[in-house]
Amino acid sequence: MPTYHAPLEDSLFVLFDLLKIDSDKYGDIFSDVDRDTVSAIGEEFGKLMTDVIAPLNISGDQQGCTLANGTVSTPDGYIDAFNMFKDGGWTGLVCDPEYGGSGLPTTMGNILSEYLISANMGFAMYFGLTMGAYAAIHTCASDELKAKYLPKMVACDWTGTMNLTEPHCGTDLGLIRTKAVDNGDDSFAITGTKIFISAGDHDLAENIIHLVLARTDDMPEGVKGLSLFLVPKINVKDDGTLGDPNHVSVGSIEEKMGIHSNSTCVMNFDGSQGYLIGEKGNGLKNMFIMMNEARLGVGIQGLSMSEVAFQNAREYALDRRQGKAATGQKDEGEAADRIIHHANIKSQLMSIRCFNEASRALVGEISVLTDVIHYGKDDDKVKEAAKDRINLLTPIVKGFLTDKGFDNAVVAQQIFGGHGYITEHGMEQFVRDARIAMLYEGTNDIQALDLISRKLPAKNGQTVMAYLQDIGGFIEANQENEELKDIVAALQKSAEALQGALGYLMEHGQKNPDNAVAAAHDFMHLMGTVTFGHIWAKMALVAQEKLADDANNDFYKSKIILAKYYANKHLPEAKGFQVKIMSGADVITAMPLELI
Ligand SMILES: Cc1cc2nc3c(=O)[nH]c(=O)nc-3n(C[C@H](O)[C@H](O)[C@H](O)COP(=O)(O)OP(=O)(O)OC[C@H]3O[C@@H](n4cnc5c(N)ncnc54)[C@H](O)[C@@H]3O)c2cc1C
Repeated sequence: MPTYHAPLEDSLFVLFDLLKIDSDKYGDIFSDVDRDTVSAIGEEFGKLMTDVIAPLNISGDQQGCTLANGTVSTPDGYIDAFNMFKDGGWTGLVCDPEYGGSGLPTTMGNILSEYLISANMGFAMYFGLTMGAYAAIHTCASDELKAKYLPKMVACDWTGTMNLTEPHCGTDLGLIRTKAVDNGDDSFAITGTKIFISAGDHDLAENIIHLVLARTDDMPEGVKGLSLFLVPKINVKDDGTLGDPNHVSVGSIEEKMGIHSNSTCVMNFDGSQGYLIGEKGNGLKNMFIMMNEARLGVGIQGLSMSEVAFQNAREYALDRRQGKAATGQKDEGEAADRIIHHANIKSQLMSIRCFNEASRALVGEISVLTDVIHYGKDDDKVKEAAKDRINLLTPIVKGFLTDKGFDNAVVAQQIFGGHGYITEHGMEQFVRDARIAMLYEGTNDIQALDLISRKLPAKNGQTVMAYLQDIGGFIEANQENEELKDIVAALQKSAEALQGALGYLMEHGQKNPDNAVAAAHDFMHLMGTVTFGHIWAKMALVAQEKLADDANNDFYKSKIILAKYYANKHLPEAKGFQVKIMSGADVITAMPLELI
């Protein structure tokens, strides 16, 4: 049976040593968020994860969700666990106090999200989607809708969903057919079928608030004709109590590869009453508030799956005995050495740890920037720069972290040998659960295309140049640092590869767009690799400073070793990506379709 322990020490390192969060720097929202508070909250939350939520992961996967008499039931134990989660006051931690939330920064919420998803991804999604829907309603809906729906959603008495996908359209949302007809009062009649709706129906909440993209017939075709509607499963009366069912039904639940404990539903809306959120025609823009939130959330899923898989693989490698170490037996008096003594196994574990800790730092950085935008001091320039950086790095967070999260789950499974394939160890579930994060919220290929076609050219390339200048500035400031100079040199080489690939795309991507499209996936990985290199170099610098006062601190020592490992074993991959990118699309074009 797999186990999970929240990596609180590393979260604290990211917040207080690396990002150095404080209210002077990032705004009043951080005034109550000191090391002791985060530590106390994280410890209590982590205990709930270890003792209650994680133990339901395998049983939830095996039992899955069931549909009977039009309602979905979650696996045994989920209702009680969800109630414990609610009763602990965890649901509204980062929500607006006006609607019953605790008003803590998004940064705090995202740390806990990582733990929740690691403990049980299927379970976490019921809550995660509710928070996404909360964000869209909070930002775009009328005060009346907010007052009516948000307090119940903050408490998770009512949960939320996101309804975009239809049978004939996933990526290309301009094809959406679901109709919204004005009822002449304040409501619309919503009719259509949505598929693959996560947490579409279940027995964890009294009501489910669906956010639905639909088309009114007075608007243009394509995405410009889409509007966003709030459609409750059960109508809500003016006094806030529940009324009649709202003609929202579950057609079926999907049989799928992983996240079995989260219901993925076909949802039918048959003239259901819906309420416009924001302006007509701005549906996609408003849904993007939820989707951007969700993209960061999905990136965290990559990290979470990688972390829990790592923790279990590490335990296994410290226990399982096979063969003798290449340099001679290490565990004296034993029939065989523990497999962690084999350099390949140890290296695999170090690779995963490198990705997890850099991912945690990147998620922390993006989360702090999100808080700066919402709650930071009134400085338009700082807020604009924060928005630009988030926009640029969102495809990396979503695409790179989830690609690597899946790869790492597979590597961790490999460390178990054949036992990784056997259900009771839980490793095959981590692999299956991690896989979806590469597909939904826009496939990772779409993230890569978004990066090269929208994010790189944004503001005439100034956004990406500012990012490269940050890396360049770090290199210049630290190249004489004797202990870190190899790390800095490796970062410089990888940054040159990134710049070279960028230059190629600017010239040859414009001449022949297939050169850019064919390179998109590699470019996302190149930029992710360099971003992590920069993060590792910064973490090494912080660790070096800390070790100056505390020379025997193992935590900081391990940071320096991992930074060197990343520089030696992963940063050289940047050059390979550059070469692949610059080979262009000719060899792809040369292949006639009929010969594929
Ligand atoms: C378990 C699960 C849960 C989900 N939860 C939700 C949910 O809660 N709400 C919701 O609305 N949806 C949800 N989805 C749907 C998910 O977001 C879509 O499946 C996803 O966006 C991809 O759409 P598609 O499956 O129609 O693939 P398609 O759009 O048909 O794409 C097929 C392939 O073509 C590629 N492709 C498409 N367009 C282009 C292009 N222009 N250029 C290059 N390549 C392209 C894609 O990358 C992909 O590889 C869920 C899906 C699953 C499986």
